[in-house]
Amino acid sequence: MQPHAPSYYAASANPFPAQPRLAGAESADVVVVGGGFTGLSAALHAAEAGYSVVLLEARRIGWGASGRSGGQMIPGLRWGVKDLVRELGRSRAAELVTLANSAGAMVRGRIERHAIACDLRRGHFTAAAKPKHLDAMRGELALLQDLVGYTCAAIVSRADQSDFVGSDIYHGGLIDMNGGHLHPLNYALGLANAALAAGVRIFEDSAVADVDHGTPVRARTESGSVTARHAVLAADSWMGDLEPRFAAMTMPVINYNVATAPLDKALARSLMPSNAAVADSRFVLNYYRLSADNRLIFGGGEKYSPRPPADIGSFVRPYLEQVFPQLKGVAIDHAWGGTVGVTLNRLPLFGRIGNSFYAHGWSGHGVLLTTLAGDLIARAMRGSAEQFDLFAQLPRRAFPGGTLLRQPLYVAGMLYYALRDRL
Ligand SMILES: Cc1cc2nc3c(=O)[nH]c(=O)nc-3n(C[C@H](O)[C@H](O)[C@H](O)COP(=O)(O)OP(=O)(O)OC[C@H]3O[C@@H](n4cnc5c(N)ncnc54)[C@H](O)[C@@H]3O)c2cc1C
Repeated sequence: MQPHAPSYYAASANPFPAQPRLAGAESADVVVVGGGFTGLSAALHAAEAGYSVVLLEARRIGWGASGRSGGQMIPGLRWGVKDLVRELGRSRAAELVTLANSAGAMVRGRIERHAIACDLRRGHFTAAAKPKHLDAMRGELALLQDLVGYTCAAIVSRADQSDFVGSDIYHGGLIDMNGGHLHPLNYALGLANAALAAGVRIFEDSAVADVDHGTPVRARTESGSVTARHAVLAADSWMGDLEPRFAAMTMPVINYNVATAPLDKALARSLMPSNAAVADSRFVLNYYRLSADNRLIFGGGEKYSPRPPADIGSFVRPYLEQVFPQLKGVAIDHAWGGTVGVTLNRLPLFGRIGNSFYAHGWSGHGVLLTTLAGDLIARAMRGSAEQFDLFAQLPRRAFPGGTLLRQPLYVAGMLYYALRDRL
């Protein structure tokens, strides 16, 4: 069995027994393709609803973005309330925002219910990279409070930001106690344990070559097949390989993280005194948090070629040291990359093809929404699809240039936004 890609998370993963490879023909009510948060949550929720479920993972549980992410539990969607109201109208926007914001409690509930040891911490701080970003946050929060009576978040002035971040490059920010952070691989493994306990049959090292979306659906791997009433496609960055019609809708973009050596406790606390996760408000953002053993886990940097840097640690270090000059020369113990499935408008793609359901394109905002998606998919299977459809009806657009030109055009777009970040 292939090991997890090397990372701080792989090095500190809770034990999880290797699952068998699919061999021969299986049948179930539901076959789930992909063993990240989306697939695991869908499998768990479907099993709890009484369905028999088979989950097929190409490599290992949590091998994709879920086991490598920054672990930041970012409340809401990538779009602000103002844009959502303009696009959907006030009442649908309110419904969607309330639903998206319920994901925080759902994830915390799962962690508590299954006693998942994944270092959960409350609080997510968005740091204003420019004074006008703080003004925008103030406006957004007022709209959010007016629309749905949101009470979890507050504006933090520049004078008070040192309660959340020990860096003076920011201009205040927004603290949201509905957010937080966790050890993402251990959360994924915990969901997998819960799914096994609920009766889900998990197969690792079982890449699905194709899915027939008819009646019954059929998912085929090199060494076996599963027939079922429903399929759930949960392969995020790899959805274009699984289902060609998605290839132009999402783009796999690689993002890099490092974990420093454990820091002195007082130094660690001085970086993030409240132990909330921090992300800045730039389009090409830096995001960071403390691990349970006081490492700084830092994601950032801009890299527009699919080829990884020769040395990921050296690539990320300048961004880290720009935020925290006090960490100049700090030892970096782990450095890794992972693939983020990005859509053109940064909203996720939900929908159906025949008897299959899909949810992907989280655009770097998937730690919370994926668990919610699994619940919505399971409910849609049972005939209660209103909330699934709220997501499925979100606007979507293919990348211009199709699969051939999307990469260069995307790079041009990102360079434009990266330049705007600097102005
Ligand atoms: C470096 C990095 C940092 C991130 N940081 C954050 C963050 O701080 N906060 C946040 O909210 N989001 C973050 N994200 C995004 C977040 O991790 C993802 O949105 C989320 O994990 C997606 O979960 P998923 O289950 O949909 O996809 P994945 O976790 O990618 O799972 C898909 C799975 O499908 C499997 N698969 C693929 N093809 C097949 C096939 N043909 N057959 C069977 N299985 C297949 C893959 O092996 C994989 O395990 C980050 C992502 C990365 C890469």
